[in-house]
Amino acid sequence: MGKIIGITGGIASGKSTVTEFLRQKGFQVVDADALVHQLQKPGGRLFQILVEHFGEKVLLEDGELDRPLLASLIFSNSDEREWSKQTQGQIIREELMVLRDKLAQTEDLFFMDIPLLFEQDYASWFDETWLVYVSPDVQIERLMNRDQLSKESAKTRLASQWPLEEKKKFATYILDNNGSREQLLSQVVTLLEGGDAHARD
Ligand code: ADP
Repeated sequence: MGKIIGITGGIASGKSTVTEFLRQKGFQVVDADALVHQLQKPGGRLFQILVEHFGEKVLLEDGELDRPLLASLIFSNSDEREWSKQTQGQIIREELMVLRDKLAQTEDLFFMDIPLLFEQDYASWFDETWLVYVSPDVQIERLMNRDQLSKESAKTRLASQWPLEEKKKFATYILDNNGSREQLLSQVVTLLEGGDAHARD
């Protein structure tokens, strides 16, 4: 049996920065967000249930989903959040399982980047989980910069995930991304080399 490592963190905590590096090193990485985008394209499994649930108002003229509108419909209403978590969550899980089982046949070691790894109970899939951690202030600032969000919208997005502080309790290893990218990636190298310099305390 090969080894599967789950990468998680919060929105804008630096997961993509880590997974991009792992890909450069030649590892396969399943990206749950990219899978969701694919499933939300016209004809995809999530596209179909979202249009059925919210109606055609969530469609743009070109037939694609209006993602910002969807995000605001889902994030601003707790019933919709719960619906999304259950219904989209189940489909995403099934599709991730297919990708996982396929890679497990060919790879000795591969990674899966799942933002809601702990919230959605994926931890048992993995031999190890790596948490890309940043402090709340840094997280909000990077999120505002990257997605051009106001502070308020950034905070609303964060509120739908567990605080990173909470996730620390569950992760096998913590990658501290409050410093530079180089500092983050050197922690990744240490873990790949089998070091445990950053085991949670
Ligand atoms: P995630 O994939 O977790 O959402 P990203 O890897 O996209 O997060 O990082 C969020 C934003 O912060 C991006 O704009 C990225 O370029 C930037 N970023 C990530 N790590 C650092 C760092 N150590 N220093 C400065 N900016 C960073």
